[in-house]
Amino acid sequence: MSTSHIYIPESAMAIVAHPDDIEFSCVGTLARWAKAGARIAYVLCTSGDVGIAEDGMTRQKAAEIREAETRAAAEIAGAKEVVFLREPDGMLQATLELRKKIVREIRRFRPEVVICGDPTIVWAGDGYINHPDHRAAATATLDAVFPAAGQPNLFEELAAEGLTAHKVRKVYCTAFGNGDTYVSIDETIDVKAAALKAHKSQMGDWDAEKNIKQWAAERAKGKEMRYAEIFRVVTLENDEEWEKWKGRVVGRK
Ligand SMILES: [Zn+2]
Repeated sequence: MSTSHIYIPESAMAIVAHPDDIEFSCVGTLARWAKAGARIAYVLCTSGDVGIAEDGMTRQKAAEIREAETRAAAEIAGAKEVVFLREPDGMLQATLELRKKIVREIRRFRPEVVICGDPTIVWAGDGYINHPDHRAAATATLDAVFPAAGQPNLFEELAAEGLTAHKVRKVYCTAFGNGDTYVSIDETIDVKAAALKAHKSQMGDWDAEKNIKQWAAERAKGKEMRYAEIFRVVTLENDEEWEKWKGRVVGRK
């Protein structure tokens, strides 16, 4: 069943493959949470280094440009932290090594909510194939969230860095049409457009503002909102369990 809701977590970490993935899929929700006081962090598995097709462009230069654009977009949305894992763009794989890198970030930031993609999405309409990097990032993230991040005896070497087990309360998987949770981004649609436009190298003469508003309006159709982002939400720790768990981490850095 579809629900419109105003759940505000204390903290959220969005974990994606490329610069601009967050802006296309979930920044309206993140900006709304940030406005309400949530701590927000981004983790980018790649720096989008093959994403600028210009004469003379190198991967190194493209990564620098795109990381700067990502930082600017994060600032617009109110995200305090951006982490770049710098895996190779276009060749991302859901390896155990990537899972461990993501577990490290989760144990460090200790988010209440993790937002990621949906690894099962291959098709969406008849003009799109979901990027393999998106699927790899989504698989590695879900596998990092559950159960790895919360298991003290898995990747226990991270404890030497002071990073002990952390259980994520909820996972928000960004959805196309198959979600169960509609978040109104009426208040933050302009932030979403501005954050997307910060990815200048990707915009060309594409009208970001017009298109993003149109898509968000289509997603809101039939709901009590003008603009929406859609998620499939999984609650891993119910209220009581979360309170107990939260209690255990109080006092930790
Ligand atoms: Zn992407």
